[in-house]
Amino acid sequence: MINIFEPSFNNKELEAVENVFNSKWIGRGSKVKEFEKNFATHLGQDPKKLLSTTSCTEAIYLSTSIFNFTSQDEIIIPTISFPSIGSAVIESEANIVFCDVDKNSLNVNSEEIQKVITPNTKAIYITHYGGVPCDMDSIMKICVENNIYIIEDSACAISSTYKGKACGTLGDMGMWSFDAMKTLSTGDGGMIFFKENRKKIEAAESLYLGLPQKSTSGIDSAVSSNENWWEFEMNRPGRRAIMNDISASIGLAQLEKLNQFIKKREEIHFKYINSLQNIGDLILPTSPNFEYTSSYYFFWIQTRYRDDLAKFLYSKGIYSTFRYWPLHKIQMFSEFCKRRYDGANYASENTLNIPIHQNLSSSDVDLIIKTIKSFFEKR
Ligand SMILES: *Cc1c(COP(=O)(O)O)cnc(C)c1O
Repeated sequence: MINIFEPSFNNKELEAVENVFNSKWIGRGSKVKEFEKNFATHLGQDPKKLLSTTSCTEAIYLSTSIFNFTSQDEIIIPTISFPSIGSAVIESEANIVFCDVDKNSLNVNSEEIQKVITPNTKAIYITHYGGVPCDMDSIMKICVENNIYIIEDSACAISSTYKGKACGTLGDMGMWSFDAMKTLSTGDGGMIFFKENRKKIEAAESLYLGLPQKSTSGIDSAVSSNENWWEFEMNRPGRRAIMNDISASIGLAQLEKLNQFIKKREEIHFKYINSLQNIGDLILPTSPNFEYTSSYYFFWIQTRYRDDLAKFLYSKGIYSTFRYWPLHKIQMFSEFCKRRYDGANYASENTLNIPIHQNLSSSDVDLIIKTIKSFFEKR
């Protein structure tokens, strides 16, 4: 079976992990600091604005506490979003307001956001679908005008930029994922960016470390003034969602390869674009008309024969799928489903994500193209 996503590890990651084992400290330590710093460099940002964590989902849950969501608040979620955004907002007791997305890009835009803004709107989650940025200037303009926090789920958009700036650093808070299916993987892991740095970072640390607010790397610094160094205070309840040096050392090795990974994905993207023109009713992704770069995380095609095509590809050893099933179609969120979501409905009925990852060989890509063509020849 040709996989839809695949990680790329070799002896670089093995050596990095071996070094951590030999250091006799595998917890949150120097490798985590170094990974945060190098990731910040990759983004062109100050490392003080970044914080590593265990997953992007953890960062999303954290965002609901950091921005103090309450039952009085409305939170806008594009209905094509990662499910943990919906879960986190439900648990925060704030009200979900779903909004529609563009039917071809699957990205949200300012017109759709405008339709659902009320005086109670507190925040919006933005997803850059497949690594192609949303049109952030117009989105940021209406969010500033209406005093709405922008939280950027950049799990798909690790090297994406919008007008020269890294996705995930445009809003008030951003987050990335390093889970098993992401371009840069640490097994599991995540990174958080805060626009307004120190205060939010400290709040996030005290929440996710579950340790005294002054302490960032362990208990020691918080109790240095204490004669009995095992005593401490806590300001609030907290989890312990911290990255460790094992994951961070893998992340550091992956970060060095990231540009190569993206380049390989870019080549595959354009091979698909050039080879799948004018086939049946097939619609290919188009480029937005602003300056951007993509992470090429997804490649997607749209056809009214989507379901049959997926099964045909599967029968030929090619896995495909659709991301992300609209939240408004999920029973658990039905009480928040108050509008028509024509764009998302169209997208969820016609869109197919086909394999794109850095391990695909050119014969794999040729086979995928040939198989898609043969499906439409039979129509
Ligand atoms: C993978 C992904 C997440 C979740 O990341 P985890 O690290 O697995 O929690 C969130 N949002 C998007 C868009 C994703 O692709």
